[in-house]
Amino acid sequence: MTDALNLPLPPAQFRNAVLAWYDQHGRKDLPWQQHITPYRVWVSEIMLQQTQVSTVIPYFERFMARFPTVEALAEAPTDDVLHLWTGLGYYARARNLHKAAQQVVHEHGGEFPRDLDALIALPGIGRSTAGAIASISMELRAPILDGNVKRVLTRFLALPGWPGERAVEQQLWAVAEALTPAQRVRDYTQVMMDLGATLCTRRNPNCPACPLQRQCRAHAGGNPHDYPTSKPKKTIPVRQTTMLLARNPAGEILLMQRPPSGIWGGLWCFPESESEDNATLMLTRLGLKPGHTEPLPGFRHTFSHFHLDITPLLIDTHGAPQLIAEQSLAWVDPTAPGTLGLAAPVKRLLESLAEPRQLSALSGML
Ligand code: SF4
Repeated sequence: MTDALNLPLPPAQFRNAVLAWYDQHGRKDLPWQQHITPYRVWVSEIMLQQTQVSTVIPYFERFMARFPTVEALAEAPTDDVLHLWTGLGYYARARNLHKAAQQVVHEHGGEFPRDLDALIALPGIGRSTAGAIASISMELRAPILDGNVKRVLTRFLALPGWPGERAVEQQLWAVAEALTPAQRVRDYTQVMMDLGATLCTRRNPNCPACPLQRQCRAHAGGNPHDYPTSKPKKTIPVRQTTMLLARNPAGEILLMQRPPSGIWGGLWCFPESESEDNATLMLTRLGLKPGHTEPLPGFRHTFSHFHLDITPLLIDTHGAPQLIAEQSLAWVDPTAPGTLGLAAPVKRLLESLAEPRQLSALSGML
């Protein structure tokens, strides 16, 4: 099984190395490491999600003074729980904590279940938090895989791929499972958290002080900062449009109001066509006679979910336009477009026509 995981070090040696380091350097005086109970470990684990140890300590102590038992928490008004959470942020954590306390009291007789699936079924408890509660407070052999542990393991293995991807996460769970010992599991869980929080930090991994340094593949490759792989940036599609700046003999430009829903809903835009070839056809359908055509520099406008590459064409026209599909039409003077709501690229192009030198600023944006 462990052969398939291609570990740089057999699990037993890995555990010995990190536990020896824990004995010498691990944190042993944190408030939730005293008088260990599932309740205290659980509260600390929820508080520590997205929050640093130094921030959590005073909150944890105030919380325990006010709610010393899961029963005290379950019976408290939600407002009291939220009040003691004020400043920690992510208030859904506090609401879930309160709900989970009530479930522990009403459905489990006030005892945290000694079963991972039952722990995970409680509000706000994921697989890693369940593993931490089970291993630290019940000494059950259960792996954890929080952000710190993911960082240590992806670096130790030089494991590529974003840990949010299912396949990568599954591989990391398999490694975490294989490395977790049956003995001293409480210390092992603590040391894996400590390594990530104090040595193998995101910005400054202290490899010379790390018990895994000799076998760590990222250290050997000189690139710990490359792990874990960041979340891939979303690639968004690119669409094309040709905007037709139809100009009448008075120098005014034709605008059409867009339908109320959809992109630029209700704003005023130029007539558009799918390509330069269709421009003449489009303007003819509007009842205009197109004449001289001048391409203007193209540019890109980016929406949250796509890029729009815009090719503007300035076309001299004659004739009176007719409504198509009941869309309102207006001729506007580019030097005084009035108070119409304009789509951003339209506003920019009108300003450029009013001040021709600005056209050059648009060029080269594609
Ligand atoms: S050797 Fe460096 S990169 Fe590797 S686990 Fe230790 S601190 Fe992290």
